[in-house]
Formats: sequence, structure tokens, C-alpha cells
Amino acid sequence: ATTPSKRYTITLLPGDGIGPEVISVATNVLKLAGSLEGIEFKFQEMPVGGAALDLTGVPLPEETLSAANKSDAVLLGAIGGYKWDKNEKHLKPETGLLQLRAGLKVFANLRPATVLPQLVDASTLKKEVAVGVDLMVVRELTGGIYFGEPRGFSTNENGEEIGFNTEVYATHEIDRIARVAFETARKRHGKLCSVDKANVLEASILWRKRVTAIASEYPDVELSHMYVDNAAMQLVRNPKQFDTIVTNNIFGDILSDEASMITGSIGMLPSASLGESGPGLFEPIHGSAPDIARQDKANPLATVLSAAMLLKYGLGEENAAKRIETAVLDTLSRGYRTGDIYSDGNKLVGCKEMGEEVLKSVDSQV
Ligand code: ATP
Ligand code: MG
Repeated sequence: ATTPSKRYTITLLPGDGIGPEVISVATNVLKLAGSLEGIEFKFQEMPVGGAALDLTGVPLPEETLSAANKSDAVLLGAIGGYKWDKNEKHLKPETGLLQLRAGLKVFANLRPATVLPQLVDASTLKKEVAVGVDLMVVRELTGGIYFGEPRGFSTNENGEEIGFNTEVYATHEIDRIARVAFETARKRHGKLCSVDKANVLEASILWRKRVTAIASEYPDVELSHMYVDNAAMQLVRNPKQFDTIVTNNIFGDILSDEASMITGSIGMLPSASLGESGPGLFEPIHGSAPDIARQDKANPLATVLSAAMLLKYGLGEENAAKRIETAVLDTLSRGYRTGDIYSDGNKLVGCKEMGEEVLKSVDSQV
């Protein structure tokens, strides 16, 4: 090979439930796709979530966070399970995930919603609306109404109890998420739609002003603006009009779930969380699925596609990422399906066998 060998350290956080099964598959796929592009990985596996609680008494051990921060990217399986559901808040597995996101300083959450031609039937939309959907929601993750102060409970002038929250965005928070979104649009199809409620909310007026200002740094990306109520409607009316969407924390929370249902298959959806510098966090959007854990039934493709996002958005290794995406499509085209995406006439396989078929697809690429 003429390409010089590139080396990356990847922190693997299998976590709970189906996490270890899907991480094992994704790691093998990452290894093979990387090797075909002259990339060498060093994998370090660390405990997180319920697994870490059982082992160390806390859901995010210091060693796990410091190892993650020193690596080039983090690949996470899933966190949580019935076993720890009655734990106090600071001893809940899910608290480990929040601490991990905070500790890695990631503020941008990327969630693609792609209707794969092989899985059009899973979509909640009519076939002609669903075919060809390929969009990405970039959600601000650390600001806005979920964190704004003041917040709390009080009484109004009539002595009635009130609850209140505050939507706050500072210029630097908008600028940095806007840059991630423009960079993302640039790696995709060059179109960015910023979603806000600037007809009603001051934080949205500033949002629109700053996104418009940052656009001058990206003359090659086509920017548009849309109110969130219209965006929610357009997502189900004509989702093909969207390439990349950028929006605040609460609107992104809602729109990314709406967008995921367009695809209809939770076992297929990856995500990335990125910061300014430092390692990104890559994980499937599904949970730990304790109902099917350790039965070799989990669909590993959401995690495999998260590994592709790790290559593309975390390491800038777009060729290796493309190899994985192509292999997933090829495996589906050859008829392999786990239970969650199974339909008549296809071949039902478990998590491991699905992984082996994806490896074959990667291997068959020259
Ligand atoms: P969270 O842990 O984020 O709160 P949740 O408990 O709401 O998530 P999941 O754990 O994602 O939900 O599981 C929801 C349903 O989807 C379950 O029936 C689960 O078996 C199924 N499911 C989730 N992920 C997968 C997968 N990768 N393959 C197959 N089925 C899955
Ligand atoms: Mg769950």
C-alpha cells in the first residue's frame, strides 16, 4: 500500500444490555474497513453505566473519562437496565452518560435520518414520500431552556403555583453549533436549514442573526431559515427538501425523534456528539434493550453506522466511512435482516451473523 499508516486510539464503552454485543460487531467492522485504508486502531475498552456501577460503585469511573478524553474518539454501546432502575439519581447508569457528555464537552448532537432503499417499507410515510430521504439533524445539546436560569417553582400574584424555565443562548454558543452545522452540511449535500421561532422568541432572534453571520464563512453552503412549527410539518409532508437541519436543544430533541420515525427502524440509527476539539462520542440512538440482551437478537447496524460516523466526523476518514456505509447497504441488498427489520422473503439472522455478513461485504470491496 502507498498510503502511510495512520494510527488512532479508540475508547470502547460497551455499557449494558445489548451494548457489548453491538460494540463487538462494530469494532470488527471498524478494524477491517480501517485496514483497507491504511488505518490502524488501538482499542481500549472501559466500563460505563450499570456495568461500571457493579464494578466500581459509580456509573462513570474517573479512569474511564480520562481514557476517553485522551483518545481520538469514543464508541459507546448503550446504558441502563431494569436492575438499576430503583437506584438513587447519582447512582443511576444514565447519570454516567450525562457525565460522559459533560466530561467530553460535546455540544453538538448529529442524528441522520436516512430511508434506505432496502427498508422503505419500515417508514411511517407513504412510499413515494419516504424514498430518497437523507437528512441530518444537528441539535445544540448543552444550552437553551433545559439549562437556562432562572428556573424553578414559585407563586404568582394570585398565590397560584407556577413553574418556569428560561430559554437563553449566548452568541458563542450559537456560533460554535452553527460552525459544526455548516461543516456537516459541507460534508453532505451543501444545504443547511436553520430552524427557530424568531417570530416569538428573543433567543431565536439572536440565533437567526448569528447563524446568518457565520454563513459568510461558508459561501459554498446554501442557508435557509424555517420556523419550527413549519419544520415539524414539512418533515412529514416533504422530508426530501432537507439536507442538514440545525436547531436549538428543545426543538432538536423533538425534531430528531420525529425524523427518526420517518425511517421507522430504531435499530438502524446512529448518532454523533461533537465538541470544539477533543474526541467525539458516537453511539446508536437506541437504548440497552434489556428485553433482548444476550440472546443474539440485537440489530448491530445502528452501532456499525455510528462507527462510520466516527470515521467521517470524528477522524475525517471519509473513505473508510464510505466503505462501511456501502457494506451495510450491500448486506441489506443481499437480504440479511435482524428481527426488528425483518420482512417476508428475507433471511432472518442474529446479531453475530449480521456482523459476519457486513464483514464479508467490506471484504468484497477492492
Ligand atoms: P432508553 O434506554 O434510551 O430509554 P428505551 O428503553 O426507551 O431506550 P430501547 O432500549 O431502545 O428503548 O428499546 C426499545 C425497544 O426497541 C425494545 O423493545 C428493544 O428490544 C427494541 N430495540 C432497541 N434497540 C434495538 C436493536 N438494536 N435491535 C433490535 N431491537 C432493538
Ligand atoms: Mg431503556
